Amino acid sequence: MNKKISIAIDGPASAGKSTVAKILAKNLNYIYCDTGAMYRSLTYLALKNHCSFEDEAGLLILLNKMHLEFVPTLSGQLVYANGENISLAIRQPDVTKGVSAVSAHRLIREKFVIRQQEIAKSGGIVMDGRDIGTKVLPNAEVKIFLVASVEERAQRRYRENLAQGIAADFETLKQEIEKRDFMDSTRKESPLTQAADAVMLDTTGMTIEDVVKKITKIVQEKVKS
Ligand code: C5P
Repeated sequence: MNKKISIAIDGPASAGKSTVAKILAKNLNYIYCDTGAMYRSLTYLALKNHCSFEDEAGLLILLNKMHLEFVPTLSGQLVYANGENISLAIRQPDVTKGVSAVSAHRLIREKFVIRQQEIAKSGGIVMDGRDIGTKVLPNAEVKIFLVASVEERAQRRYRENLAQGIAADFETLKQEIEKRDFMDSTRKESPLTQAADAVMLDTTGMTIEDVVKKITKIVQEKVKS
């Protein structure tokens, strides 16, 4: 596969986007960009600096000062904000609960979208999020909208949390996922929606390998054409 294209993967919380995106990027030797980690990093800094999630101007100051680095390692991608390794902190429940409020602000989104477009400008990228196919990379050659039942997504998040040593209760996780999906898909700015030209994949009951295989086939078709 010589032609380096852009692959946008969107969908609701815990639909398996980042797991699949990481594998695809590795297989294709593409860059992987986890845009959710960007909004999570700002949410972490807001908590650390006692900035209200509703305070758009305060969040913007934090964002303008935030130096974010993604460092690939053998055990996965590490996230550093202003030199601090926040890879685990941004997955904690306090950040997960607050991130939809932070990401709803127009000025915050505008700044992040510019950063994301800059990262993607040379192609050869797999980017996952909520508005990649609709807003960040509207010309992406491949757009995937990953969905799965809320029960299955809560199960996946439950297992992930346990594996990472994060305390978890299945019912609470399920409610949080539903609430985050609701906030992300009903906000005014770039709500979570499927792009008209995206392929929807329902991953309920599918293995990660099967999902990767399906998307790889779609990518191969595009690269050939
Ligand atoms: O993908 P992840 O679950 O880590 O995303 C965390 C949150 O960041 C989402 O619930 C959403 O509020 C926000 N987000 C967004 N736009 C993106 C990626 C994530 O609004 N492109």
